[in-house]
Amino acid sequence: MPGEFEIIDWIRAQVAQAGQGLVSLGIGDDCSLINQPDDNRKWLVTTDMLLDGRHFQMQSGQHSPAQVGRKAMAVNLSDIAAMAGTPVAAFVSVALPKADSQSIARQLTEALKAEAAKYQVVLAGGDTNVWDGPLVINITLIGLEPQGGAVLRSGARQGDLVFVSGPLGGSYPSGRHMRPIPRLRLAEDLKICLGPDLHAMIDLSDGLAGDLRHILNESGALGADLFTHQIPIHTDLYDYQTEVQNQAGPEAAMEHALCDGEDFELCFCVDPAALSKLPQGVFEVGRITKEPGLRLVGPDGLARNYHRGGFDHFRKELNTR
Ligand code: ADP
Ligand code: MG
Repeated sequence: MPGEFEIIDWIRAQVAQAGQGLVSLGIGDDCSLINQPDDNRKWLVTTDMLLDGRHFQMQSGQHSPAQVGRKAMAVNLSDIAAMAGTPVAAFVSVALPKADSQSIARQLTEALKAEAAKYQVVLAGGDTNVWDGPLVINITLIGLEPQGGAVLRSGARQGDLVFVSGPLGGSYPSGRHMRPIPRLRLAEDLKICLGPDLHAMIDLSDGLAGDLRHILNESGALGADLFTHQIPIHTDLYDYQTEVQNQAGPEAAMEHALCDGEDFELCFCVDPAALSKLPQGVFEVGRITKEPGLRLVGPDGLARNYHRGGFDHFRKELNTR
């Protein structure tokens, strides 16, 4: 059985070492060396761990190492997008199952490399372990904040318009949760078009209801009205025979759009005066209010309080897996 050193040697050979932008020393030493950007922008740092049996199902044969690699990179890229940043370098730590460790490492690395290359991200280091347990992968991704500063969760203001970048719900039954598309380009466009009028942003990993609550809480106990007839519902919810669709139809689909996890679309808050500067293809779904809490407003204009908060790994409130 190949040891960890052989696997690392193979990974190193896969990753070109020359001309890697801000990465002046990548895989091969005790640390990597990253240059300072010459325009004084701050670094963004994010990290996300994925576990077999929880975030993907490789042992049971449902997902391949390549699918896992792609998802692991994409969810981290999505966090950089949520701050409107530019990703630069990734650090990958893996605990590989003993059986088949080399083949898994190869497929995983190929997929990580491919996903990283789409966004000019360098694989700049990591850690490799082989063990008796299932696959665990953690990626730490660094990136640069945009000109004008990162877009935080805490900047929403009363009267802001709330947008999402795409249709929501049904990512588990369809398997879409394994292939998120990080909205880096859109986030960059939003920041360029809106500048300081882009007040707050988050990527939707836990459902619109739950993630919008993060913005509301971080922005000082604000609230929001969500206009149900304007929330884009993903066709996955109709294409696949979900248990809920069978039970209850459109109302249930709306619940999924609000509470399913892992859509990885962006949710962002914009100054209403800047509406004309918005790029195409985004969906206005609500408005920030001074009154705390989340309310659903139907086409009849009637509002009802909404208490559910999206997927939570600890409470398992809406575990659709
Ligand atoms: P150390 O024992 O000093 O931590 P390692 O032998 O773990 O060094 O790693 C050697 C080099 O290989 C380091 O540059 C490390 O960042 C890199 N590396 C190890 N595993 C991975 C991996 N899975 N992906 C990318 N780089 C890796
Ligand atoms: Mg090590």
